[in-house]
Amino acid sequence: MFLSCLVADAKTGRVFFWAFEGEGPMGEPTNDSKSSTVSDRKLRPQTEMVHGGTQRSPFGETSEAMYLTSGYVYDSAEQAEARFKGESDGFIYSRFSNPTVQMFEERMIALEGAEAARATATGMAAVTASMLCQLSAGDHVVAARALFGSCRYIVEELLPRFGVESTLIDGCDLNQWRDACRPNTKVFFLETPTNPTLDIIDLKAVADIAHEAGARLVVDNVFATPVLQKPMEFGADVVVYSATKHIDGQGRCLGGVVLGSDEFVTDHLANFLRQTGPALSPFNAWVMLKSLETLDLRVQRHCENAIAVADFLGAQEKIARVIYPGRSDHPQHNLAAAQMKLPGNMIAFEVKGGKEAAFRLANQLGVIKISNNLGDAKSLITHPATTTHQRLTPEARTELGISDAMLRLSVGLEDAADLTDDIGFGLDAA
Ligand SMILES: *Cc1c(COP(=O)(O)O)cnc(C)c1O
Repeated sequence: MFLSCLVADAKTGRVFFWAFEGEGPMGEPTNDSKSSTVSDRKLRPQTEMVHGGTQRSPFGETSEAMYLTSGYVYDSAEQAEARFKGESDGFIYSRFSNPTVQMFEERMIALEGAEAARATATGMAAVTASMLCQLSAGDHVVAARALFGSCRYIVEELLPRFGVESTLIDGCDLNQWRDACRPNTKVFFLETPTNPTLDIIDLKAVADIAHEAGARLVVDNVFATPVLQKPMEFGADVVVYSATKHIDGQGRCLGGVVLGSDEFVTDHLANFLRQTGPALSPFNAWVMLKSLETLDLRVQRHCENAIAVADFLGAQEKIARVIYPGRSDHPQHNLAAAQMKLPGNMIAFEVKGGKEAAFRLANQLGVIKISNNLGDAKSLITHPATTTHQRLTPEARTELGISDAMLRLSVGLEDAADLTDDIGFGLDAA
């Protein structure tokens, strides 16, 4: 007979499902990265992406189980009472926690090097929760102006409606971070590289300014991916992802995750999510969990392809400008090299001839698809001024450096030669 039990981490209140292996000494969990033989070793990130967080059921499945359940049954009314009182460990309801979702969270924790994490239904749920869970009326937020459109809405429009003031600044100018601080500043928020202009913000310098001001630094790390950049190593307090992008990487599911310290998750995030309910579906969590096994390989290939495509674009007569952190003509090339392992898969470029020429090129492409998504196996191109950043005024777009001639390309996993051919034929035809 298999024996299993539930144990709780006293500090975070997390529940772990341990299944005991027949041949092992009793009481030994089959949790991959914590089994008796490897418990003392620090595993490298790629190994964690394959094994981290695995909690095998008594059936001994190789691949992680998908627990499609909203609720859990109790052995007795007394046990139900004890669980609700927090005196007994175990799952209660999948809005609070679910074994498959928890495996995804644990694998992300191992990959990011964070203490704790919670998964959410979308990247925007992660961003919103990361802020609302720690802010109250009367607080102040400083954010870099170059943000994903919906993130900018949260900071600029939503938070002020609830009495949280916000200041948007040029994130690349460290003096502006310093000057924007007030006694009630609680949160700094930024993304780097930024969307779509791929500016690089100095994580270490901004984290230091945040901490001097008594604020937490929250970083939206989507464009860099957890493989290429680890903001916590530079002092970030909270890291958020849209797992919809490179983590799924195959355009299937929406998801998000917030990572931080035990203290942040226990005191702020966990209860906020439990009560407001933007929970990740166990099915989507399972897709994301399995996707993490190949994330490192995919991101390497994304970057190799992007380097080749950026080189090709840089040599084209009809292209006015190429923005890619891996190119030596990128204004913050050295900073990018210092905080990112590789330059990523996102490229922005301007076509000579403005919007008409940019549209003509996009319409001529065959392999590269027109889509506002990113981080996908398929190469995707979008015209930010008329899609992702359409909501901004022309002045606001100019301030961000988003011209009508600009296209944003998310380089996929195809053969790079087919991508450069596609752009080459497209430019000839346009
Ligand atoms: C896509 C994205 C988000 C939002 O994620 P969803 O999963 O679409 O909700 C937030 N920040 C950045 C940088 C993104 O690219």
